[in-house]
Amino acid sequence: MCTLKLITVDALLSRVVRWPSYAAVDVIMDSSYKQSMIDNMPSGYFVTDVTQSIQFANRYALSHLGYENLLQRPLSEILTRASCILFESYVSPLLVREGVCNEIQLSLKTASGEKLPVVLNARREESDGEVHWTFIGATQRDKLFHELVQARNLLEEKNRLLEARTVTDDLTGLANRLSVTQYLTEHLKNARVRQTQIVVVFIDLDGFKAINDSHGHLVGDQVLKAVGQRLAGSLRTSDLVARYGGDEFVVLLEHGTGESKKNERMILRLLQKLRTPFQINGQMLSLSASAGATVYPQPGAVEPEQLIRQADQAMYKSKLAGKDQVSWFDPQWEATQRTYHELISQMRAGIKQDQFVLHYQPKINLLTGAVVGAEALIRWQHPERGMLMPMDFLPHIDSHHIEQELGDWVIDSALRQIGNWRARGLLLPVSVNVSAYYLMSEKFLDRLLALLHNYPGVPASQLELELLESSAIDDSRNISSIAGVCQRMGIKIALDDFGTGYSTLSHLRNLSVDVLKIDRSYVQDMLTNPSNVAIIRGIIGFAKAFNCLIIAEGIETDEQLNALVNLGCHYGQGYYIARPMPAESIESWIAAR
Ligand code: C2E
Ligand code: MG
Ligand code: MG
Repeated sequence: MCTLKLITVDALLSRVVRWPSYAAVDVIMDSSYKQSMIDNMPSGYFVTDVTQSIQFANRYALSHLGYENLLQRPLSEILTRASCILFESYVSPLLVREGVCNEIQLSLKTASGEKLPVVLNARREESDGEVHWTFIGATQRDKLFHELVQARNLLEEKNRLLEARTVTDDLTGLANRLSVTQYLTEHLKNARVRQTQIVVVFIDLDGFKAINDSHGHLVGDQVLKAVGQRLAGSLRTSDLVARYGGDEFVVLLEHGTGESKKNERMILRLLQKLRTPFQINGQMLSLSASAGATVYPQPGAVEPEQLIRQADQAMYKSKLAGKDQVSWFDPQWEATQRTYHELISQMRAGIKQDQFVLHYQPKINLLTGAVVGAEALIRWQHPERGMLMPMDFLPHIDSHHIEQELGDWVIDSALRQIGNWRARGLLLPVSVNVSAYYLMSEKFLDRLLALLHNYPGVPASQLELELLESSAIDDSRNISSIAGVCQRMGIKIALDDFGTGYSTLSHLRNLSVDVLKIDRSYVQDMLTNPSNVAIIRGIIGFAKAFNCLIIAEGIETDEQLNALVNLGCHYGQGYYIARPMPAESIESWIAAR
């Protein structure tokens, strides 16, 4: 205890400069225990006063320097000459100025006069100017440092492995969804600076479900692995290939700007690679893939997720366009899609809220003037946009499910109207326009039957379905079989806008129709364009040959009407006769004639 003459243990411990790797000694302990701790510290510890004479040295310091006692010795005695200079010129002023001085490499002088390289930390007490020193042998420090580096490397390796597991797809070993986002986040930042383009390609396999269903999941998994390998094998190592989920893959390419042709070629090559059959368990399995791509930078700010969504949407376009191809994201698409979905939901609401109405345009016998029927034409009383004509909304919902809802509504309304008129003594057949998508939709015939069933007072013969000539020839076999069933139910079938769809005789033979409607465009300039007259004459001949009724559309003048009658067309409709009008107006219009 001789070394503790000048300083109490508590005071010492409270001021001890801690070597960073030693835990704080801040538990309540008795003083002899504390003393033994200081003595057993695995680092040297000593205290100097303002005159730089040593006031305390722990056992480690004494034993490593080889002294029995260091009390009251000047610090300079245990410093080598070079270290003395370093002390005076650097350490001492720093201690005065900052109060601490860490990690100074210098040499202490042992009792036998040898140099002991150490790493020293010092802290100066503001209150009494005492300096507390700790030191550790430089070699020991090096060892510690080495151990530390090793430990850190191990830790980093472990983290890398952990990270690899979270950014890798277990099945294919490719990057996964998370690493796509990470890659994009990093690369988007640099792309503008480096003047490069990042191309995000979303690939979805066509026909993968069928493979899974018929060959089982194990084979499906092997196909996915093989697809991953083919994709990765066709790209540069700097490109990223990831399995995004299920049978979806994402490829990220980085190129110099203005290389869009190259990008397209690259993607087409990927699709080409996937087209080659896969040999799995001795079986040859074929599939293809649909791709969508988008490019960064874009005019506005975009997030990684947004780019993926854009590529995904473009991929969807490829699917719609027949699969096995690539489509590029169109910036207008998102906006168009938004308005499209808005329109659909507005239409749904519109159907429920009775915003749709049918206007009726009379058809007459051109010779006698007698009204022979009416064509129902849809209008939408839009709460904000006012009265909308069919061309304002029908083209936008082409092939959407809502066409069926709307089609049902039209037939239902027309049947109800026929019934209402009949109840008041007006026997007026009504034709409704049906889209090919609606006609071909599943359960069309069931629904038509159900609708007719709801109006037992309305004979099916009072209903006529007008079908666009162009859509009728697109899928003439199916259309004709459905049309045939309708005809057997008593419903009449008309070919609308006839002359615009390039029907051939064989089409017409397949599709036995009751009525041909001469397209408005022929009627409109028949008086000035002799070839139109020839066409009309041909259509009339056609109609006679196939024993169907012929109606001219779009008669706007008396001259047109007379010319048509002279050509042998005895039925017609058009503004000259009457514009389409609300159902309530039809009766008074007929009465006025
Ligand atoms: P569409 O079936 O050929 O109907 C005739 C169109 O020509 C109607 O236009 C009618 O208002 C117009 N029109 C009639 N006479 C004349 C005339 O003398 N001169 C001129 N310039 N036009 C005349 P609308 O009502 O705008 O209908 C356009 C098209 O929309 C229809 O052509 C039909 O293809 C379709 N459409 C109308 N209602 C429905 C419906 O309920 N369902 C379906 N799927 N399509 C419909
Ligand atoms: Mg029509
Ligand atoms: Mg027409």
